Amino acid sequence: ENSDRSEKQVSGAEVIAQALKTQDVAYMFGIVGIPVTEIAVAAQKLGITYVGMRNEQAACYAASAIGYLTGRPGVCLVVSGPGLIHALGGMANANMNCWPLILIGGSSERRQETMGAFQEFPQVEACRLYSKFSARPSSIECIPSIIEKAVRSSIYGRPGPCYVDIPADFVNFQVNVNSVKYVECCMPPPVSMGETSAVYIAASVIRNARQPLLIIGKGAAYAHAEEALRKLVEQCKLPFLPTPMGKGVIPDNHPNCVAAARSRALQFADVIVLFGARLNWILHFGLPPRYQPDVKFIQVDICAEELGNNVKPAVILLGDINAITKQLLEQFDKTPWQYPPESSWWQTLREKVKINEAASKELASQKSLPMNYYTVFYHVQEQLPRDCFVVSEGANTMDIGRTVIQNYLPRHRLDAGTFGTMGVGLGFAIAAAIVAKDRNPGQRVICVEGDSAFGFSGMEVETICRYNLPIILLVVNNNGIYQGFDADSWKEMLKFGDSTAVAPPFCLLPNSHYEQVMTAFGGKGYFVQTPEELQKSLKQSLADTTKPSLINIMIEPQSSRKTQDTSLGNGEAVHSYE
Ligand code: ADP
Ligand code: MG
Repeated sequence: ENSDRSEKQVSGAEVIAQALKTQDVAYMFGIVGIPVTEIAVAAQKLGITYVGMRNEQAACYAASAIGYLTGRPGVCLVVSGPGLIHALGGMANANMNCWPLILIGGSSERRQETMGAFQEFPQVEACRLYSKFSARPSSIECIPSIIEKAVRSSIYGRPGPCYVDIPADFVNFQVNVNSVKYVECCMPPPVSMGETSAVYIAASVIRNARQPLLIIGKGAAYAHAEEALRKLVEQCKLPFLPTPMGKGVIPDNHPNCVAAARSRALQFADVIVLFGARLNWILHFGLPPRYQPDVKFIQVDICAEELGNNVKPAVILLGDINAITKQLLEQFDKTPWQYPPESSWWQTLREKVKINEAASKELASQKSLPMNYYTVFYHVQEQLPRDCFVVSEGANTMDIGRTVIQNYLPRHRLDAGTFGTMGVGLGFAIAAAIVAKDRNPGQRVICVEGDSAFGFSGMEVETICRYNLPIILLVVNNNGIYQGFDADSWKEMLKFGDSTAVAPPFCLLPNSHYEQVMTAFGGKGYFVQTPEELQKSLKQSLADTTKPSLINIMIEPQSSRKTQDTSLGNGEAVHSYE
């Protein structure tokens, strides 16, 4: 207890809120309960937006998307034990995606530690595996410096999550207001440039390429390198390929985008410049048969430990993508150069783009019912506003949707990401809608979900309705995981036994009315089976800027992607980034 009663007191909760505010943290997502409720209340009082979610996992996904979209970490606030454990999924996902995030967990009272306290769990240790920094302040007076360090660590170098543990007895404990010193807001992340000689060599490797390719990853999106990269692409007339979340850094409809010829471009390029994209499973590790055995990689990344993973690069450029792209541009300004637009490489790529686009248009034009994926996505693409956020998850829904649905702006696509996480969609959509509300009112969020993916965080529809976020949820429903049964086959199958005995594990209930989850909370719901119904309901949903809606789109339960070139023999059945 403080002896000086005349001095103003401040609670631990208020100190946390003020420390976050001082570090320019603007958004907090979470679920309150003992012992963190007061922290949420204090944050809200200081003008930090607090969004109450229905599961900590979704709250953590939302907070991590804030970090990617704004460059400043969002906070996920959770209770002790199970609350914290639910959030680990979101933390791991953020870690895999290299997105900044601050997780704040309440924990049991210090004097009960190791005694079997309520929801006691070794939280600081549990978070270490998923974070860049994980700590518990030793006193209330130490909270501001720990929060500053967490925020700073989350955005300096390769971005990532940080954890701050708050024992229950800190939350309501009062200390003398003068005993707490707030650490000034940390400086923006330092910008590091590439080594001059390496930049020079990189430029000359590009100049000498016969079949060059730029790959633009979500690191480039995070780095806000859109302007510089576009200049590089246009000035040097180079083909580029976005990764899933690299889509939109340069618009998908740019004439130099070779996304529709992805496999071909990867397989025959002789020089590949990687701007913030790791050579992991998404890029087939950079190895044959998906690439030439002697392809020269030029790797641009902010993380030194990433350079040289899986391949021996020809050139490594350590630093900020935006700065390094500008350095490359300087080289091409000094000695102008462009890749010949009449080269056979460009011809090959253009031809392949044409063939592949025609193949999906052909599938989209099929009139049979139930609809296939391509028909659905073409109709959706036709109506989408150019500036909307596109959130997407599901297996085929995400993979096929990505090839049809276009992005025109950077950091406007959010999906299952590096970790291939299902259940991220609603949290991401909520984060995007909150950012849109503050920065660009009227901007829409379209969330394209598989029926299985929707199920992971479906109760967040209540959150969407409570805050009246005009998100449009599309559930592309094939009655199952990867695929399902139609209602008749399902009934027929049940004749052979109880559902737990005979239903294949991938099955979900046929013709589930997911749209009623939305109407249950006052939003608009549509159940659609034809292209006309889809067009009409999407039009209505887009016109209504005051309400969320969910369009449940029934598709052929056995529908799948168009047949791929299987000669590559890469044996990946689930997500293949064609
Ligand atoms: P994708 O999934 O789009 O292929 P990844 O998540 O695999 O992208 O790769 C993103 C990379 O970008 C990471 O290796 C990360 O270190 C890097 N990165 C993030 N921010 C920057 C930045 N400002 N400058 C350079 N590299 C960055
Ligand atoms: Mg499905």
